[in-house]
Amino acid sequence: MIFSINDECILCGMCADICPVNAILGEETTQSIDQYRYVIDQDACVQCGECAEICPAQAIIKQEEESGAGRKEDAA
Ligand code: SF4
Ligand code: SF4
Repeated sequence: MIFSINDECILCGMCADICPVNAILGEETTQSIDQYRYVIDQDACVQCGECAEICPAQAIIKQEEESGAGRKEDAA
């Protein structure tokens, strides 16, 4: 399982505050230096799920870890 942050994020920062191992970091996006986003350091994350519970935007989702090079998804 991995936790990841999707586009619903409203940048409140609560997840970064609650994470017991400081695995959630703010970083500038590549699109704009004014824009910030939060990312989860998968190496540091201990998968406690606290960030997903506190997120007011339900932007943190738990996913199955993908094995190999990643699955190919059909375009709709
Ligand atoms: S708690 Fe949710 S909305 Fe707030 S910064 Fe984290 S992912 Fe974004
Ligand atoms: S699942 Fe727990 S350890 Fe992982 S990023 Fe969220 S709060 Fe941090």
